[in-house]
Amino acid sequence: MSHAKGLIFLGPPGSGKGTQAQLLSAQFTIPHISTGEMLRQAIAQQTELGKKAQHYVDQGELVPDELLLDLIRERLNQDDAQNGWILDGFPRNVSQATFLDKLLSELGKFSEQAINLEVSDHLLIDRLLSRGRKDDNEETIRRRLDVYREKTKPVIDYYHNHGRLTSVDGNPPPEEVTASLNKIVAN
Ligand code: ADP
Repeated sequence: MSHAKGLIFLGPPGSGKGTQAQLLSAQFTIPHISTGEMLRQAIAQQTELGKKAQHYVDQGELVPDELLLDLIRERLNQDDAQNGWILDGFPRNVSQATFLDKLLSELGKFSEQAINLEVSDHLLIDRLLSRGRKDDNEETIRRRLDVYREKTKPVIDYYHNHGRLTSVDGNPPPEEVTASLNKIVAN
């Protein structure tokens, strides 16, 4: 059986995950699946999910797992995701990571690779403040970085311990980061 590539982008808010994921998605013609984008869209459309998620997103807290797990399962089952995908923003805690592992072993055909984009704190804050999304005000940014350290850092250890993590320096300008990523993903 051929192995479809599943890339999991990890890294703090402002690390450039979304930008890089989008570029690689175009290059490999596999979908860029961003849970943050899916949630923002659900909130804009005020769907049931959007109404439930809004408060958490506005506060910089994680949305409860049960709101996201079915969404991910359905998304990875769609036709355009059968040759590979790039996940951006998921998994964001260890229980989401174990859920994803179980789901992928059921689906059976994906070889996943986690990529950790490492960026120094002062750059993260500068980038987030210049981006101007609704949840990019100073207070929410601080909370999102705390949530990241508390809940998402252990996900990095999880993939590291399973031998599936590659770290990439995300400090240089975007084109340089893209070049580093290309080398890794081509392997
Ligand atoms: P960033 O990486 O800049 O924080 P995202 O667009 O990935 O931005 O996420 C924005 C918000 O959406 C998060 O602060 C959180 O409230 C919610 N969110 C996104 N993905 C998840 C997830 N996997 N689990 C729980 N909440 C999530």
